[in-house]
Amino acid sequence: MIGSGTMGSGIAGHLANAGVDVELLDVAGSAADRDAIARGALERMCSHSPPPLMHPGHVARISVGNIEDHLHRTRDCDWIVEAVVERIEVKRDLYDALERVRRPGSVVSSNTSTLPLSLLTERMSPAMRSDFCITHFFNPVRFMRLLELVRGPDTRPEVMEELAQFCDRELGKGVVHCRDTPGFLANRVGVHALQAGLVEAVAQGVTVEEADAVMARPMGIPKTGLFGLYDLIGLDLMLDVAQSLATALPPADPFQRVADGIPLVRALVCGGYTGNKGAGGFYRGGADAREVVELATGETRPVARAAIEAAAAGERDGLRALAEHPSAAGRFARRVLAHALGYAASLVPEVSDEVVPIDEAMKLGYGWSRGPFEMIDSLGADWFRNLLAAEGFPIPPVLDALGDSSFYRTHDSRVVHFVMGRGHLPLERAPGIVRVGDFRRLGSPMLSNRTASLWDIGDGVACLEFHTKANALGPESMQLMRKALDKVAERHSALVIHSDAPHFSVGFNLDFVRACIAERRWQVLDDALVEFQHTCRAAKHAPFPVVSAPSGMALGGGFEVLLGSDLVQAHSNVVVGLVEPVVGLVPAGGGCKEMLLRWTRDAPDSETRTAGALRVFELIGIGRTATSPELARPLRLLRAQDRTTMNRDRLLADATASALELADGYEPPATPEMFAPGPPAYDAMCAMLDELAGKGIALRHDVVVSKRLARVLAGGDAQAGERIDEEVLFGLEREAFLTLSRTPETAARIAHMLDRGRPLRN
Ligand code: NAD
Repeated sequence: MIGSGTMGSGIAGHLANAGVDVELLDVAGSAADRDAIARGALERMCSHSPPPLMHPGHVARISVGNIEDHLHRTRDCDWIVEAVVERIEVKRDLYDALERVRRPGSVVSSNTSTLPLSLLTERMSPAMRSDFCITHFFNPVRFMRLLELVRGPDTRPEVMEELAQFCDRELGKGVVHCRDTPGFLANRVGVHALQAGLVEAVAQGVTVEEADAVMARPMGIPKTGLFGLYDLIGLDLMLDVAQSLATALPPADPFQRVADGIPLVRALVCGGYTGNKGAGGFYRGGADAREVVELATGETRPVARAAIEAAAAGERDGLRALAEHPSAAGRFARRVLAHALGYAASLVPEVSDEVVPIDEAMKLGYGWSRGPFEMIDSLGADWFRNLLAAEGFPIPPVLDALGDSSFYRTHDSRVVHFVMGRGHLPLERAPGIVRVGDFRRLGSPMLSNRTASLWDIGDGVACLEFHTKANALGPESMQLMRKALDKVAERHSALVIHSDAPHFSVGFNLDFVRACIAERRWQVLDDALVEFQHTCRAAKHAPFPVVSAPSGMALGGGFEVLLGSDLVQAHSNVVVGLVEPVVGLVPAGGGCKEMLLRWTRDAPDSETRTAGALRVFELIGIGRTATSPELARPLRLLRAQDRTTMNRDRLLADATASALELADGYEPPATPEMFAPGPPAYDAMCAMLDELAGKGIALRHDVVVSKRLARVLAGGDAQAGERIDEEVLFGLEREAFLTLSRTPETAARIAHMLDRGRPLRN
């Protein structure tokens, strides 16, 4: 890895995550420490947030050096990645030096965002050209799913094949092959969409909050929105990116119309407001943004938290409802859609004959839930052409060629997609890449309600998909899960729990809990918890294997679903844990019981049982989460037998294979014997709590919540070593949950989390 800046250190870290040994070289530092620059990068890697490494120990796989003293080390490397500054001369000089030392046949690639491959290879020998390509990673490398690959006319096909395979399977990237055109695919469409958003926000007179509410979930774009994303990326970096794209594109390209964005961005940068990394950008006041910039004046004012009607209509009734909303925000949405989707369509066939790579690039690289052509399908091609005409945009040839069809549809039980000049062709995915959405396109679920669906995914396996907002789980989700367990037992051999959504599940539905508290419906709440506990237990003891395949967050109730699974096929960036105390509650879907079992099952005596219970108390009490399977295992949040998949798109197929493996001769686990840790454990937990309270670490309500948790984990009134039934622990979990629900402090924590998206410390 040459270049240890933002991208170089990110790529080096992610290669280390994949178990690869890496040489990380940068320019030489002072005589005192010639490797200081790369070493500094390595140190930052260990403290950076979000962590580029899945486990701090992976840092040992990276050796540092400098290009003056250590370039010869590249001779031992199979793949040499260049991520130095975006200056053609610097890159070319480096390639010249590499020609002299690298091993012929080793792959060389550049991470450039804007320099065409034809320019990079101009001075290269034919041998190096045949080994060279562009591998365009996105920042942060560990978390961004897209990798754009660009081959040159002389690149050996094997180079592309090997890289694509390796990056897909080992690095977990969604590989999209691109032509050598400026900005490749994702940034060409994505940066244009952002710039168009800026221009139209000002032109339509909407506020920052309105623009962010519209250009987010209602459009299927991440919730950071438009201005929030600018702040996150950095206003100065966005200026550079837009500028370099404009320079690379011809004057007639429609990007030029929005390339300059709005003057306010430059003014903010000049005033030192470069975004979240500095003093703030459009939003000010850190994570709890209290102030926002008024677009017309550049002055700040308090953030307005009122709901935005157009956005609500879009979320409720879909993209067309958003675009047809008769408000300024609706008009803004219309204009942005015309710009962004019209521009994406205009790139066919210049950047790709097919629409799929563009859709994939936007989903994987910008986190859009649908690609531009999938969005046009949901609007209707005819409706969208009318919109373009009405708003004064040209109709791209691909939209004319499409006629009254759609870009994706089904034909002969297969999903087909539109290819310019060739009509509709079957959509082929690489073997092992399967999405629940593919089943949705093709047919109907076996079971479904508002919150979840059960799909037959072939090979005798069924897939339970949750599909609420952030996959929060409430009574209806459990009802469907229960029915699914019965249904699968009829004629399937295994169940996989998985969805295409970013998060497996953020937990038990807090809106439901809040409503129960407000209306004092304690029995309803208790019944829901009983159903949750018994459904997770039914999964565990079902006559077939249940494999959960989580990615993103699997927290609280979502994590309790994992606890009820025979095996977890986890994505490598999964975040797991029982976080209920953060909202003033304790796990009550069997989470306390299962974690206690994991930590005390083999305890030979009261002392070790107490120690185990104390570990669970610590874990749950502070709502400890693990941000990778490797970090989850020592905490027993995942077990040794649980498996990891690097590529999120391979999770479902991997989980299915694991489920089928288990199904062969499957015997459900017997109900385990449990013994109460009892009063010694309770006393130890209280002593720990007193100490934390004394130091001011545990606040008043933390103490109340933790005391309740301690009672559950000790086994209630049972004596140390007394056998306890699962039902007793279930009862204790619910008793604690309901008691805490009645406290105003817990109600306040829940309200804060729901309304502000952040924990309240009280
Ligand atoms: P950066 O400025 O953070 O890091 C560049 C690093 O290159 C620095 O550590 C610098 O010391 C080092 N360097 C400069 N000349 C060198 C040389 N001759 N030999 C070895 N090291 C040298 O830049 P970055 O953001 O990491 O970008 C690197 C490349 O990745 C650029 O081509 C950029 O276009 C591309 N890229 C950046 C992003 C992003 O979001 N930052 C995303 C995708 C691609």
